[in-house]
Amino acid sequence: MSSRVAVVTGGNKGVGLAIVQALCKQFQGDVYLTARDVGRGQAAVESLSSQGLNAKFRQLDIDNLNSITAAAAFFKENYGGVDVLVNNAAILLKAGDPNPYSVQLDVTFKTNFYATRDMLTHFMPLVKAGGRVVNVSSGLSITGLKQCEPALQQRFRSEDITEDELVGLMQQFVDNAKKGQPKEEDTPLKAYNLSKTGVTVLSMILARRLSKERPNDGILLNACCPGWVRTDMTGPEATKSPEEGAITPVYLALLPPGATEPHGKLVSDKAVREW
Ligand code: NDP
Repeated sequence: MSSRVAVVTGGNKGVGLAIVQALCKQFQGDVYLTARDVGRGQAAVESLSSQGLNAKFRQLDIDNLNSITAAAAFFKENYGGVDVLVNNAAILLKAGDPNPYSVQLDVTFKTNFYATRDMLTHFMPLVKAGGRVVNVSSGLSITGLKQCEPALQQRFRSEDITEDELVGLMQQFVDNAKKGQPKEEDTPLKAYNLSKTGVTVLSMILARRLSKERPNDGILLNACCPGWVRTDMTGPEATKSPEEGAITPVYLALLPPGATEPHGKLVSDKAVREW
C-alpha cells in the first residue's frame, strides 16, 4: 500500500467530490473519499472510476464518534497517519426550517462545529510531518463574526483564545437562544454563519498550537472558503462550479514541501482574508 494518504470528509457530492477528483489527479498517494452513507460514497467512487480516477472509499460520519475513531485507527494502522486531511463535511438547514432557532443552532453546530472539532481532536495526532490540514469553513464566518458583540469579536480575533474558551462561547450562543425571545434575524443561515465562525477560530487556535508543539514538523493548517458554489447546499444560481470551488481547498492541501505559509488563516481565491 502507498504510504501517503489524503482524506476528505463529505466527499460524495458537491465541493467535497470535486476536491477528491482534483486530489486524484494531483496528489501523489492514495486518496480517500469518505462519506457518511456507504451507498452514496461508493456511487461517487464509481463515478470517478468511470473518469479513470482511482479514489478509495471509507465510511465516515463525522457526527458519530465511533465512526471517527474507527477511521482514525484505520489510517493509523494502514498508513501510519495522514498526510492531507480536508474537513469538508457540513450542513446548512433550509430557509424556513420549522424548528425553533435554538434547535437550528443545536443541529447546525453539532455537525459544522462540534463534529469538525471531534475530527480534529482524533486526527490531528495522526497528521504526519509535512502534513496539510484544510478546514472548509466559509466567507460567511466573517459575517458571523461581525454579527457578534464587539467584546466577543475581540475574543474571536485574539491570539490567546483557547479551544476550551471557544467551545464555551459557542455553547453560550445556544444557551442564550434557548433563554431569549425569538428574533426575526434568527435564521438557519445565521446559525450556519456562527458555526463557521467557530470553525475559522478553531483553525487559528489549532494552527498556533501546531507551531508551538510541533515547530519542526512543517505542518500547515488553514480554514478556507470555496466561494459561492453550485451544490445541493446552495442551488443553481451560485457563481462557481464545484471544480472551481475545489481550487482553493486543493491549493491548501497541496502547499509544497517546505512552504511556511499560509498557516492559521482563512483563505479564499488562494488569498488570505482579513479576520
Ligand atoms: P453539499 O450539501 O453539496 O455537500 C455536503 C457534504 O457534507 C455531503 O457529502 C454530505 O453528505 C456531507 N455531510 C453532511 N453531514 C455529514 C456528516 N455528519 N458526516 C459526513 N458527511 C456529512 O455542500 P457543499 O459541497 O456546498 O459544501 C461543502 C463545504 O463547503 C461545506 O463545509 C460548506 O459549508 C462549504 N461551503 C460551501 C459553499 C457553497 O457555496 N456551496 C460556500 C462556502 C462554504 P450527504 O450527502 O450524506 O448529506
